Amino acid sequence: MNYSFSYRLKVAGLLIVAIGFAISSFSQDTVQTVVAEKGDGILSLLRKQGVNPYEHYDDFVSMNIENLRDSIHLYAGRTYRIPVADLDTVKVVDSIQRKTKEIKKIEGKRYAIFGKDHEMVLPNSEKLKGAVYYLVSGHGGPDPGAMATYGGKSIAEDEYAYDITLRLAKELLSHGATVYIIIRDENDGIRDERILEIDHDEVAYPNKTIPLNQVARLRQRVDIVNKLYKKNRGKYQRLIVTHIDSRSVGQNIDVFFYHHEKSKNGKKLAESIHKTFQKKYKKYQPNRTYSGTFEDRTSLYLVKKTHPAMTFIEVGNIRNKKDQRRILEPDNRQALAKWISEGILLDHKLGEIGPIR
Ligand SMILES: [Zn+2]
Repeated sequence: MNYSFSYRLKVAGLLIVAIGFAISSFSQDTVQTVVAEKGDGILSLLRKQGVNPYEHYDDFVSMNIENLRDSIHLYAGRTYRIPVADLDTVKVVDSIQRKTKEIKKIEGKRYAIFGKDHEMVLPNSEKLKGAVYYLVSGHGGPDPGAMATYGGKSIAEDEYAYDITLRLAKELLSHGATVYIIIRDENDGIRDERILEIDHDEVAYPNKTIPLNQVARLRQRVDIVNKLYKKNRGKYQRLIVTHIDSRSVGQNIDVFFYHHEKSKNGKKLAESIHKTFQKKYKKYQPNRTYSGTFEDRTSLYLVKKTHPAMTFIEVGNIRNKKDQRRILEPDNRQALAKWISEGILLDHKLGEIGPIR
């Protein structure tokens, strides 16, 4: 027999064995299933299984994509596969981490602004250490922003923008960033509800009453951000402004990103988040075309007047039925925040501190 032929065969045989082994060792003990009950969402289902929902959300979606409506909703009565991380990366409730032999403590930090159920921030990485983020959610205080009705109840833009902003803040903190939540409501926290009660007690950082007059209201947040920007001079600083849009009733808008036309770093930030959204849509909703865009819009007061490199994000149209479904579902607000945070991480990896803007 020809030597080189048999050698090749042997190599091929080895390869098959190796692949077979890799597959079986991967699937072994790593798949656990659960039947969804009525009212379950992805987050609550994972939480009930003792899995950190924020870390394994993406894994869950890709493992169960064929059993999800719109790639995000569970069907009651169906069986779902639960991603189980290696034991040493599983985070158990609060700050205790279980290992096979030892119990390792994770130093979590509590932030009251996120509310009782969400106040604990567990460290994820140090990727954003030294970076400073200013998060401004649209409107607030006496100004609820765009209003709509859902199931006979009034809903307001500022409450939903705030909830997404808090979720984003939590993500960024978990990666070691310094985060300033500019518009704040001390008693709302992150809310896992569809209808977010409207209130008017939001304040501007640290504790300023928000004026009703539009120009005064915008000037106030610009001044706060620019003052902090000066204080943090020399550091990597970015500003994210989040709104829910309210254009004409029928329009379904996906997500829009704006930046200052002259800001290279603002453009890069907007582009990074935009790219992340495109990728996520391709992965989870391949049949849906993503129609979000990113463009410069220096006409917006905040875009024009603030000093850090920034992006202005509009997530969905609060008056559009399809968009409402996305905004009202707490799991979706979490996914939006997560995707924005991934775009921010991408931007930071390639980023530079930059001059003003
Ligand atoms: Zn708005």
